[in-house]
Amino acid sequence: KDEFESPDFYGVDDLLTEEQKMIRSSVRDFVKKDISPIIEDAAQSAKFPYHLVKKMGEMGVFGPTVPEQYGGMGSDYISYGLMMQELERCDSGIRSTASVQGSLVMFPILKFGSEEQKLKFLPKLASGEFLGCFGLTEPDHGSNPGGMVTNFKEDGEDVILNGSKMWISNAPFADIAVVWAKNEAGRIKGLIVEKGMPGFSAPEIHNKWSLRASATGELVFNDVRVPKTNILPEADGLKAPLACLDNARFGIAWGALGAAMDCYEAARKYAAERIQFGKPIASFQLIQKKLAEMLTEITKAQLLVWKLGQNKNQGKATTAQISLAKRNNVQMALEIAREARQILGGNGITGEFSVMRHMMNLESVVTYEGTHDIHLLILGNEITGIQSFK
Ligand code: FAD
Repeated sequence: KDEFESPDFYGVDDLLTEEQKMIRSSVRDFVKKDISPIIEDAAQSAKFPYHLVKKMGEMGVFGPTVPEQYGGMGSDYISYGLMMQELERCDSGIRSTASVQGSLVMFPILKFGSEEQKLKFLPKLASGEFLGCFGLTEPDHGSNPGGMVTNFKEDGEDVILNGSKMWISNAPFADIAVVWAKNEAGRIKGLIVEKGMPGFSAPEIHNKWSLRASATGELVFNDVRVPKTNILPEADGLKAPLACLDNARFGIAWGALGAAMDCYEAARKYAAERIQFGKPIASFQLIQKKLAEMLTEITKAQLLVWKLGQNKNQGKATTAQISLAKRNNVQMALEIAREARQILGGNGITGEFSVMRHMMNLESVVTYEGTHDIHLLILGNEITGIQSFK
């Protein structure tokens, strides 16, 4: 057992630099001290722990790969992945807050924004002074975002935005929203919509059984006047939001691994202590099979994301490689959470353990940022050259 209470069966730690391990340790310590003690209450009461936003900014988990001149740490992608792993070891909702902020709000501003937009927004987003959200999905356009109907028309120095977005993480608490909408020519553009702009609201979606510690909302635009200076100048077409999703999915592949590790650890410890038929349940072959399969899948997933991280550091991680990792690791984590839940018996359904919370969270993670099946079809396209989901 290593200091992280994580399985590291193949010594994947040997592949990490000292700096990467240090970053992982500091995020893990922060999670243990500030998030783990409150997460179960936050999830049970479906209250987003907003007070953590500032602390997460101080910890550097928002956009760590963003250059220092814009408030980031200029860190590498494996460090970013390890941060997501440690956040999601605690809760997928907390990791979602960081993923959205870093990969879906800061990244598009960095990649497609003007120098003024970068200087105005990135440092505040990095520090947690501002919280952001990313509006791509609409009530009638999820897997097919290109069909979006949210649109804007030019009006002097401004544009007038109309439409709505659905299932938007962070929305009810967000200071800014990166919104994807069609211009009069039908081209998809990115706009920074700011809280308080007349006609803009972000009502919360209630009664979720998943990601209860993350706030999810709608974005509603009724003739919202947005200055043209808030349009991301370099974003043109669907490939711009899809580039953001690539980055976020990379973090999800690492994050899901954290959730899987936590479920595995909970099951392993419980199996060693729980006595039935006069013996620890860990002594039964069927329990050993479950644990052995969990460890096998976690080990494979660890190697997968480490190599994907190297590819990303070298600027050569492809969309299809990222799809493979997101799809594999989230499904792996979901299956481990379900098996761990069974090992914990009746106790497994309570908030005494994190396992059922992980399981319910992962039901969103397997659907958002491209569903499990859409990622399969992205791979199918890569293999055959034929896109089946047009
Ligand atoms: P649909 O697209 O309607 O899909 C329904 C089913 O049909 C799925 O199983 C899908 O795989 C299948 N399907 C669809 N098309 C095909 C096809 N061609 N072939 C085979 N099967 C197909 N979006 C944002 O923009 N920003 C956010 O911050 C955000 N956060 C989210 C948070 C949560 C908690 C959730 C649940 C969602 C969030 N989403 C967000 C939206 C998410 O990305 C979408 O839910 C997802 O893309 C799926 O879209 P949908 O729900 O409309 O399902």
